[in-house]
Amino acid sequence: MTTPQFDLWLDGANTPAAVRFERHSPFDGTLAGTFADGGEQDAAAAVGSARRAFDDGPWPSSPARRRFEILTETARLLTANADLLAERMVRESGKPVTLALGEVAASARCLEYYAGLALAVEGSAVSERNPGALGLILREPVGVAALITAWNFPLLGVVCKLAPALAAGCTVVAKPSHLCPGPTMLLAQLLGTAGLPGGVFNVVTSQREQGAVVGQHFASSRAVDKIAFTGSTATGQAVMRAAAGNAKRVALELGGKSANIVFPDAPLADAARTAISAFTFNSGQQCSAGSRLLLHRDIHDEFLALLVEHAGKQVLGDPAEAATTMGPLISRRQHERVLGYLDLGRAEAKLVTGGGSHGNFVEPTVFDGVDNSSRLAQEEIFGPVLSVIPFTTEQEAVALANDSAYGLAGGVWTGSMDTAFRVVRGVRTGKMFVNCYNTAGLDDMPHGGYKESGTGREFGHAGLEEFQELKTVQILLR
Ligand code: NDP
Repeated sequence: MTTPQFDLWLDGANTPAAVRFERHSPFDGTLAGTFADGGEQDAAAAVGSARRAFDDGPWPSSPARRRFEILTETARLLTANADLLAERMVRESGKPVTLALGEVAASARCLEYYAGLALAVEGSAVSERNPGALGLILREPVGVAALITAWNFPLLGVVCKLAPALAAGCTVVAKPSHLCPGPTMLLAQLLGTAGLPGGVFNVVTSQREQGAVVGQHFASSRAVDKIAFTGSTATGQAVMRAAAGNAKRVALELGGKSANIVFPDAPLADAARTAISAFTFNSGQQCSAGSRLLLHRDIHDEFLALLVEHAGKQVLGDPAEAATTMGPLISRRQHERVLGYLDLGRAEAKLVTGGGSHGNFVEPTVFDGVDNSSRLAQEEIFGPVLSVIPFTTEQEAVALANDSAYGLAGGVWTGSMDTAFRVVRGVRTGKMFVNCYNTAGLDDMPHGGYKESGTGREFGHAGLEEFQELKTVQILLR
């Protein structure tokens, strides 16, 4: 199997860097690809390219129809190259190929969605307050947008920021995670093939040490107007501080510790199956994982038995195999971090199932009787580890769900819509699932966090508005 080499993507072309780095598969350690190790100068070159493309280039003032065509053509190219893109994710991140293909399909849908919205952007007019005047409210692109992204959704995590940015007329610099940079590079090439003008999308890859340098350059640059970040809360805070210099607009998609709440009148078999996928999907490496299970005491034993049954159905293995449902964790470092939480769980709670590990794999692991104030229940583990916390009353469940620094997602399982709505209104998170968890198929709805889960929204109309400025015009009629 050949090992692809990727350069930087600047001004619409591959641009070699002086230094390169390697990425190895977290599954079997084979070389997955070599990448440009970009630094401060490359970051400055990328920002300069995007700035010129915004200030002097055709993109911000291009007709909506042109943006629609480029976005739909890119969606078509993504679909046509789905196997190639999925293979990148499999090799660099260990994501199971079925999930990777699903991510390509979701990315294509996202591009199509924002292609449609590009045609529908319209302002409004105000005339009632003063009949002798007319007010116009225009929507303009925010300018140069910097995207700093993570490895867990290495294609969709970029596309869900890039598609609305391009639809709005912004130009973009991107810095993917050093752990899975390939999909962003392939995306850049496909955008070039689709006809995106040079300079509108630029990518700087770099290894870990340089990643912070490039990310901080983007976040602090006065030539960047907006930053959209996905990653840890600590890095998000560093991005926010750096962005303060020119008061740039900041969107942060950070972590979570979401509560999935199950009442006795829920469809229990379905709830248990979904509770497992809620914390094992992508091997638990997802911000909106349902990693706390709030379980009503009346169904405690019955439900735990169902959890054990469904956990046993997960297939850990070669991510290139279609039957695999859980791949390895992204890195040795992440694996060791998760093992530390397993030790903590064994010491503080009762191990119900799992707890084993080999290579970079961790079995789906369920701990029962977890104290909601413990580190196990409060910290984002980013691995397949579920904390079960028993409750008796609805008020108690809502209070437990809210007793978290995070506020990203949550689920409620019940046969009563009254209960469901009270809980939905009571839990302070950006997203709630009723009798499902990540499985309703409504992936164009806004996504983002309350509290320390972040600020801003991705997807939906709200995702487009993140990349738009409002300009008001007051016209005195003579
Ligand atoms: P980070 O937050 O460190 O990395 C996210 C992105 O930020 C990467 O592109 C990274 O580059 C970049 N970056 C790193 N340092 C800086 C900096 N100082 N300024 C600007 N950008 C920077 O996450 P990790 O990948 O290290 O994962 C650590 C933990 O974060 C996970 O265990 C998980 O808890 C959480 N996380 C949450 C995610 C989510 O979806 N909400 C996604 C990923 C992680 P580089 O890769 O080159 O270091």
